[in-house]
Amino acid sequence: MNPFTYLRATDEAAAVSAGAAAKAAFLAGGTTIVDLMRLHVMQPDAIVDLGAIGLTQIENTADGGVRIGALVTNTALADHQTVGAKYPVVVEAIRSGASAQIRNVATTGGNLLQRTRCPYFRDAQVSACNKRAPGSGCAAIGGVNRSHAVLGVSNKCIATHPSDFAVALVALEASVRIRGAAGTRVIALEELHTKPGDHPEIEHTLKPGEVITHVEIPANAFAKKSHYLKIRDRASFAFALASAAVALDMQGATIRDARVALGGVGTVPWRAKETEAALRGKPATRATFVEAAKAALVSAKTQPTNAFKVELAQATIVRALEEIA
Ligand code: SF4
Repeated sequence: MNPFTYLRATDEAAAVSAGAAAKAAFLAGGTTIVDLMRLHVMQPDAIVDLGAIGLTQIENTADGGVRIGALVTNTALADHQTVGAKYPVVVEAIRSGASAQIRNVATTGGNLLQRTRCPYFRDAQVSACNKRAPGSGCAAIGGVNRSHAVLGVSNKCIATHPSDFAVALVALEASVRIRGAAGTRVIALEELHTKPGDHPEIEHTLKPGEVITHVEIPANAFAKKSHYLKIRDRASFAFALASAAVALDMQGATIRDARVALGGVGTVPWRAKETEAALRGKPATRATFVEAAKAALVSAKTQPTNAFKVELAQATIVRALEEIA
């Protein structure tokens, strides 16, 4: 591990100021960055610890939604009664991720900004990786890529976004509140993560020094009837091969409105708007779900060893919808 300075920020302003320095990195729960520093994948000159700046509350908002502090742990969020009652998909997504020990320290903001589990990205000694070393190539394209993405990929990077929580939040049309040197701004969660394109090293739209302070989930008609289904190689402590966050607003047996987002198959938490459109106004039947699920994968670009994900993701959507309908 390279030498670095350490600052424990005492408030948001101090964190923003220190975090804007070149090669500074924020530390929240540490479940990603400590690993990556040990592997020489991330080599910051300065660590800005956010652990003393607060942001540990979960509050009800005036519109009936919730506001979650960025340093609320994944365990605290999953155990929160209001969140569980209003947004079951959030609790299911969090509990499907990592291990209990990791969820005890991993934070709301850090979960959204965790970095890919592509094994080549984490192999700083040998492997080419455009995300870690721009311009060096992508060892996953033509390499071992069974776990990689089929949606939102480029010829520079096919890494999946690893967060389950972010997939649930995209389906619920959540937003993130951001504090920076220029003040506070709020963006839709869908606008936080960026597809790799020609610059896979750029993963989000945060500016240097900007800190996520809160995640806000609005009240809506579909959240209560929501569900997260994750398909993986083993039953726990594994990343998704495919996952689906689904939410339905029903009028009798007819789908009045729907939200669908996918994990494990996209370079970003993937909102499946084509599937939502195909569900809207239709009867909640298996035939409807099968047709709608196909729409989500129309733009898929596969590699020889991950082509199975197209059928797997479709089946995951269908099963998730059947389980709540
Ligand atoms: Fe790196 Fe992306 Fe290629 Fe993985 S898929 S090796 S993260 S460029």
